[in-house]
Amino acid sequence: MLLESDQKLDFNDVLIRPKRSTLESRRQMILERKFKTKWAQREFTCVPIVCANMATGTFRMADVFSEYNMLVAIHKFHTKENWLNASKNAISASMFTIGMSDEEYENFKDIRHALVDAKKIDNPDDLFLCIDIANGYTQRFASFIRKIREENPNIVMIAGNVATPEMVQELIIAGADYVKIGIGPGSQCTTRLKAGVGYPQISASLECADAAHGLNGGIILDGGVRSPGDAAKAFIANADMIMIGGMFAGTDEQEGELITRRFLTNELDENNQQIIEEKQYKLFFGMSSDYAQEKFMSGMKTYRTSEGRKEEILYKGAVRDVIDDLLGGLRSAGTYIGASGIKTFGKCGTLIRVGRQHDRF
Ligand code: 5GP
Repeated sequence: MLLESDQKLDFNDVLIRPKRSTLESRRQMILERKFKTKWAQREFTCVPIVCANMATGTFRMADVFSEYNMLVAIHKFHTKENWLNASKNAISASMFTIGMSDEEYENFKDIRHALVDAKKIDNPDDLFLCIDIANGYTQRFASFIRKIREENPNIVMIAGNVATPEMVQELIIAGADYVKIGIGPGSQCTTRLKAGVGYPQISASLECADAAHGLNGGIILDGGVRSPGDAAKAFIANADMIMIGGMFAGTDEQEGELITRRFLTNELDENNQQIIEEKQYKLFFGMSSDYAQEKFMSGMKTYRTSEGRKEEILYKGAVRDVIDDLLGGLRSAGTYIGASGIKTFGKCGTLIRVGRQHDRF
């Protein structure tokens, strides 16, 4: 056994050092970034925030995200009909998700051609592909990516999840343009509790970005962003993009019905009856939770253990408000560090290690 004793850092272990800045106003901050992909001969520009392929990965979400030039990973249980009925704007902000499955890959190919026929995209290569599995360390994963890259030299391909540089290098060399980083940090994830496995996100980001950038690839830091401040820290830690689920959950655009719960308060009305308060929630769940497996895959048979939980999230209303708050926080962080755009957060920002502010899981 080897014990690595240098401390790895999570969002709550660091703060951003304020610096002198010449920026006059938050409005000067440019949130969009231009990306040039390693494999696909493509350039694209977006605000580098991706909505996770959970109950948040919907076309309703993508409709709103398209207005902000942000992306949504549509969850993989959408049907061909769902895709064909989505608006052109929503599709322009969407990426397709598959697991490590030939059947799902065939489905991706079928749907993107149908989208071309329906004039929803111009070219089958326009649809980004996100290959998402819980444990990207399995041997078969790199060969699966290699096969897809060989067959699709020009698609933008994202693959994950891993959390250490050697695997980032392996997946980029195999054909991924971007590698998704995050083992255990998700708001609905129980991997750290069930399996004891994980890697704190700030250290994972710094180490994995270094590995990816050396190969002209990039990383998407996935999971654990609970506030706009965490998002700013992620970009300073050299993440090219971030993926977020929980912060966008509980909104109108998240899949699922509103749940009303009634609570007895300690206050009395004019008839001396205890006042009942109503609150509304939406159910949000990990994609490998028992709940998700029952809902989407008729039981637990394809998985060994449930490494996700479910939670009723207080209803937040329109996702637009969450996005505005998030982007406002990023603009503010930029002015504190003298960065004129998200692209330069890594160059301009300095993280300082502080005592852990509170336990995150
Ligand atoms: P959040 O932004 O909610 O903290 O994290 C979102 C990420 O959590 C997702 O993009 C995905 O990588 C991860 N995730 C989603 N569902 C599960 C699950 O059931 N188990 C685990 N281990 N991770 C999950």
